[in-house]
Amino acid sequence: MNRTILHLDLDAFFCSVEETRNPDLRGQPFAVGGQPDERGVVASCSYAARQFGVHSAMPMSRAVRLVPNLIIVSGRHRLYSEVSKQVMDKLHNLTPLVEQISIDEAFLDISNLRDENPERLARRLQADIKNELDLPCSIGIASNKLVAKIATEVGKKSAKKGSPPFGLTIVPAGEEAAFLAPLPANMLWGVGPKTEAKLSELGIHTIGDIARWPEADLAKRFGENGRELANHARGRDDRRIVTEHETKSISQETTFTRDVSDDKSLEKTLRELATEVARSLRKNDLAGKTVKLKIRWPDFTTLTRQTTLPQPTDSDEEIIKTALKLLHDVRKPRQPVRLIGVGVSGLGAPIRQLGLWDTGSEKSRKLQEVVDELQEKFGRDIIHRGELE
Ligand SMILES: [Mg+2]
Repeated sequence: MNRTILHLDLDAFFCSVEETRNPDLRGQPFAVGGQPDERGVVASCSYAARQFGVHSAMPMSRAVRLVPNLIIVSGRHRLYSEVSKQVMDKLHNLTPLVEQISIDEAFLDISNLRDENPERLARRLQADIKNELDLPCSIGIASNKLVAKIATEVGKKSAKKGSPPFGLTIVPAGEEAAFLAPLPANMLWGVGPKTEAKLSELGIHTIGDIARWPEADLAKRFGENGRELANHARGRDDRRIVTEHETKSISQETTFTRDVSDDKSLEKTLRELATEVARSLRKNDLAGKTVKLKIRWPDFTTLTRQTTLPQPTDSDEEIIKTALKLLHDVRKPRQPVRLIGVGVSGLGAPIRQLGLWDTGSEKSRKLQEVVDELQEKFGRDIIHRGELE
């Protein structure tokens, strides 16, 4: 069956939100992120700053060298999450088939909105989000997620320099491969710098070059990834939209101002993050089976390690225990760490133990609920939540 997938990505999201709160920023070169002397990175930068080569994830110290009059705005992540939710609510009003993939990006399966012309729908969405929330966004529409997302990126790239792109790119069914063919190979999912270098050695530079290369040879060179490359390069992708409950994960992370190598303080932070995650799970009446640890070393290498538990959990203790074990498996004592995070996914309703012989865990649940309520009332240490756009 032919599907119609819409991919929406807010343009320079954090910066656009800042502009709605402070119109003086409009047209100015500015970046949201940490201070250069605290080794901050650019989380988002305005289109005026992009003209000078500033981009997200760049160290702020470098951004300031490129644009000496760069205005630095500290991130307000709670605000961005609230605004993001307003956008996502709009999308959910259109269809329940929404897959949010980051704070400012989502896929919608609009195949069943048959009587609606996709282009008109996209224009209306862009206008609504602009008029009601004062935010620009770009949209790509195609028969699958892969091509829709690349369509959005292509639309963004063709923007006039210095202003938000407001892109809208529609790839008609049947034209996926032709649309992708001239684009650089690294725009395909799964083509990171290493694969790109290997492809380049073979004389493969565009997505079309990959599509023309014998699939069996790609499989021989790149394994399973090679087959995927061959399919993707032809514009084939049959992944469906996975709605919120299936993908949702609740996580917390923190970036240290200075690398932490002290085992005790690292474990303390991990405990706090895990406690925060468990609290959000209980607040949303959820439990999750998979506990994930994220860790970033001083050289920016980032690892994730996860464990799947036999039963879904929302307990502080269990998440802490699992996260600490993952930490000990991946890190040598006193090894410095730049960022640490804990997440729980595989979410569903918590399993309640109400059996006659099993009141222990129900009791501890009740206790935790009381603790949560108290902390909700009287506040707790604020844990910095870092999300890159
Ligand atoms: Mg964006």
